[in-house]
Amino acid sequence: MNSRASRRNFLVAGLGLPAAALATPQTPRAQPSRPASEALAFRTLGKTGLKVTSVGFGCMVTSDASVISRAVDMGINYFDTARTYGGGNNERMVGSAPALASLKWVLRNQRMGTTIPSMTDSDQLEENFRAMSEPFGAPDAKLLAAIDENIRPLYCRMCYQCSGQCPKGAAVPETIRYLSYADYYGQFALGREHFASLPPAARAVRCGECESCSVACPNGVHVAERMIRAQELFG
Ligand code: SF4
Ligand code: SF4
Repeated sequence: MNSRASRRNFLVAGLGLPAAALATPQTPRAQPSRPASEALAFRTLGKTGLKVTSVGFGCMVTSDASVISRAVDMGINYFDTARTYGGGNNERMVGSAPALASLKWVLRNQRMGTTIPSMTDSDQLEENFRAMSEPFGAPDAKLLAAIDENIRPLYCRMCYQCSGQCPKGAAVPETIRYLSYADYYGQFALGREHFASLPPAARAVRCGECESCSVACPNGVHVAERMIRAQELFG
């Protein structure tokens, strides 16, 4: 993870405390200002002993203070003021229904202390709030499976199993990772900057000159296509 992204500032409502991540499950509690049909779920935040809502609030892309006030009223008690990747582009790229399904999927893991999705408006807040009371169901699984299938050729899981496989010395995992900064996080400059830091020999490789690619990705990434795009984009 990028060091800027890892320097997070957390606020637990009513307490200004740093946060960790692992949790133990807690029984949902009643709160007066939330919709009657929805329940807050609390978990214990690591060794701090703090009871935090399983859905927190990533504040850095929130320009409307009333959304944060609303979140407090609803009972959310965990706020993350860290800078997020892509200024929220990630959420915009994913879209709301997949984002909700993803959030519910994450919350199935009871060891997860809390989640901190970035939110910019009340619609996102209300939707993310629902993830605390709605179980991850078959429609969610189907939706995520379809997305997984769609992004498989593009999405590098950074497993580094393809490292050193290119006979021409292309830095495959790194290059595809930097391309994702541009394509999915809206951070073209960051991707180009990282690409420029690769050794000159790795930067000089032109995948378009290969008749076929000898790098096999076990996760289904179309390596040559992604590499060609990165080389065209970053030079
Ligand atoms: S391209 Fe495939 S093998 Fe290489 S790091 Fe990404 S997911 Fe792993
Ligand atoms: S197409 Fe594949 S084998 Fe050829 S240079 Fe690119 S990564 Fe290497």
